[in-house]
Formats: sequence, C-alpha cells, structure tokens
Amino acid sequence: KESAGEEANYPRWVRVNAIKSNLEDQLESTFSAFTRANSVQDVIMKSGKHLFIDPHVPNLVAVTSGTDLTKTEAYASGKIILQDKASCFPAYLLDPQSEDGDLIDACAAPGNKTTHLAAILKEHQPEFETSPQIIYAFEKDSRRAQTLDKMVTTAGSKTDTRIGFGQDFLQVDPRAERYKSVGALLLDPSCSGSGIVGRDFMPDLHLPEISSTTEKGTTGKANKRKRKHGEFEAEEPCNVIVDDDGNETIMKSEKDLETRLEALSGFQLTLLLHAFRFPSARKITYSTCSVHMQENERVVMRALQSDIAKERNWSIMLRKDQVTGMREWPVRGLTSACGGNEDVADACIRSYKDDGQGVMGFFVAGFVRLGTQDAGSG
Ligand code: SAM
Repeated sequence: KESAGEEANYPRWVRVNAIKSNLEDQLESTFSAFTRANSVQDVIMKSGKHLFIDPHVPNLVAVTSGTDLTKTEAYASGKIILQDKASCFPAYLLDPQSEDGDLIDACAAPGNKTTHLAAILKEHQPEFETSPQIIYAFEKDSRRAQTLDKMVTTAGSKTDTRIGFGQDFLQVDPRAERYKSVGALLLDPSCSGSGIVGRDFMPDLHLPEISSTTEKGTTGKANKRKRKHGEFEAEEPCNVIVDDDGNETIMKSEKDLETRLEALSGFQLTLLLHAFRFPSARKITYSTCSVHMQENERVVMRALQSDIAKERNWSIMLRKDQVTGMREWPVRGLTSACGGNEDVADACIRSYKDDGQGVMGFFVAGFVRLGTQDAGSG
C-alpha cells in the first residue's frame, strides 16, 4: 500500500455528493475498477482496489487508501467529496427537513458539513433545482472562509448557501429578522483535534507544528500540515494557548492540556448556548473531532443544565429519535462523564480512531426542542 504509518489502518472515505451525482453512477464510473468488499476491514487489509458501501451513512463509501482520487473528474467537478465517515455524522443526524426552514452552520470552513447539509436538502426535495431553504454558513477566519466558498461552489450548493466571511457566530443576533426561520443549527466548533488520524495528542504531546494564530482565548496557533489526498483539513489544532491578553503558552505537559481543554470547552459551551437562543430553532447538533470528555459529554451536560436550556425546553435527542444509521451506530457516550445518566450517554455518538471501524475519533450529540414557538425570553 502507498500510505504509511497510522493512516495505513484506514480506508479513504468518499461521500458521493447528491447535488451532482448519485451512488449508482459513481459505482459505474469513478469506482468501476474497484472490487466490492464485504467489510471496512477487507478494504483496509486486502491488496488491490476495494470498495465497501457504508451501512450507516447514505451515499458514503470506503475505498482502498492510497488511491489518489484528486485526479478524477468526479473529484474536480464536486461529484465526490473526500470526507471521513465520522465527519458525515452531524449533518446526517441533524437530518434537515423542509419544515425545519433555514439552517445555520455556525463554524463552517472548510465546508464538509455545509455541503453535506445542502446535499441532504436536495435529496429531500429533488423537485427543486435550488432548495428554498437557506443555509447560513458562518466562518470567523476569513482565510478559511475562502476555502469554504470554493468548496461550496465546487459542490454546487452556492445558491442555497450564504457565507458569512469572517463572521463570528457569537456576534450573530438570534433575534435578527433574517434568522427568524432558522429551525436547525449545526455546531462543529474548534476543538483539540485529538481524534484526528495521524496526530498523537497524548500522552507525549507530539503536537503539530506551529504556524498561524486562530481565535484568542481558546485555541492558539494553527497547524499547516499538508493536506493529504485532497481532503480538506476539518480543524487546525494547536499546541499554543493564548490568553485574553494575547499571551501565548506552549503546551508541554498534561497540566497544559487540561488548561487548554478548559478554555476550549468554555468556548464550545458558549457557542452551544448561543445556538439555543434562535427563536424558531428545533434541532441542533453539536460535534467535535476530539476524544476528550471535557469537550464532549461534559459540554452536553453543562448545556442541558443551563438556564437557557430549561427556559426554552431544549433536551437531548434520544437514540430512539435519531436517524436510522445513527441509532444503529454502536459506539456511544461515556456514562461516567454524563453524571451516570445512561439515557444521555446513549444519546451521544462517539467514535475512536483505534476501534477497527476505520474512522477518526469523533463526538456528536443532537438537541431537540418541543414546539416551534419561542418559549423563552432569550
Ligand atoms: N464544520 C467544518 C467542516 O466540516 O468542514 C469544520 C469546522 S472546524 C472544526 C471549526 C471552524 O470554526 C474553524 O474554521 C474556525 O475558524 C471556526 N470558528 C471558530 N470560532 C468561530 C466562531 N466564533 N464563529 C464562526 N466560526 C468560528
């Protein structure tokens, strides 16, 4: 196999973009030389070109890694998108329907989940050339917003999507007229990136090389690791903590990591509580590519216990209410991190990069609110 190291234990995940193509067409064209495998493990282990149709997420396939799909017409034209399986969970779990109205992707660049949302809208309403529902995609980092714009254009979802270039989601007024029909929000904020394949996060703190600064007070400098095989970097993790005065501390120890996780989880919770305030919102997904409970179950629990959640009737989206593939996904949240609440833990969806499923470490939970009426003071 061409790929080496940790990445050799993973397939290349490919999402067929329902806006521009469909699975059958791609199996007959881009993947015509691939042999159908019976499992992800077969794709990983067997020599030659193999393909496995994912049983959980629609329009997703695992193919032999080391295959350079970036040279294909399908990739160049946005018919296929190289996106890890776990990264497909949030949009699929949110499952936006026509009655959900407009959508927000709060932390959108590079756009994997924005384009996935647009594809789901299209699948639900194939009769529309352009979905009548708007996706507001905010991205605080202007440079990353350019990448988002490019990805949205290539994927063919430009007409549905309004990009907030350099827009901080926390500065977006939930009461603004234009967001009054926003019924569902996808929240995929900056995180430690500890679930990303190819990164040893702990215990040795072999963190990625430092290059440019991201948001103050939460994450510090970003990694400029070269993109591999055309997959857009979902996150730019860092090993620098920047405090509110702009002072930088390089993380060298577990104590530094704890400090950073505390800062990140405070930021993640603030974003989630802000999402709770949108008057017509009925569904939210919260996700990270982190395996740390501080950024995951603990944020979920703090959000559920918040005054705003109680005022506005937000609760966890229970496993039984989730879309089929997510209900069937076996890896769930940590009960101990949910204060012993087994229902909340079971509602949380996790993945671990070393569990043989061939996916990155990830976390996602859904929140639901009964009724579309504005129940709280906001
Ligand atoms: N959802 C993206 C995808 O699937 O392609 C990945 C998002 S990445 C994990 C988090 C992004 O959120 C980063 O691009 C970061 O610049 C952006 N971000 C961080 N804080 C933000 C804020 N307050 N408002 C909007 N964007 C923010």
